Amino acid sequence: MATIFTKIINGEIPSYKVAEDDNFYAFLDINPLAKGHTLVVPKKEVDYMFDLDDETLAGLHIFAKKIAKAIEKAVPCKRIGTTVIGLEVPHAHLHLIPIKGINDMNFEKPKLKFTDEEFKQILEDIKKHL
Ligand code: 5GP
Repeated sequence: MATIFTKIINGEIPSYKVAEDDNFYAFLDINPLAKGHTLVVPKKEVDYMFDLDDETLAGLHIFAKKIAKAIEKAVPCKRIGTTVIGLEVPHAHLHLIPIKGINDMNFEKPKLKFTDEEFKQILEDIKKHL
């Protein structure tokens, strides 16, 4: 069965899409740890990051680089933290999280809530810098 991220990539489930190319897709995390928290996924449906072929693994990070630079310009932060967890959705993905300190990477913290308008505004702010 297709993962929720494949359904997002295929447009069957809506997302706040930051960017896409032939092989990768980036969208705002619906339960963000920070404003601008973005997920970057390969279109190829592989569960575990380290089961990706080398080209896809490298390409994912190269694609993520320009997204991270845009988020950095759009959201006040010290840098973009990256992490891979993958315990919830079995489709390899990289978290890009604007951080000011180590606590901003704590996934046990309550997630932020944004309205549709707020998500759209964040998206617009990031896309301006792409
Ligand atoms: P992980 O698999 O890395 O542990 O967590 C999956 C991440 O995907 C979580 O941060 C969660 O908020 C996000 N997520 C799960 N389902 C959806 C969804 O339908 N849309 C979006 N935008 N994010 C999702």
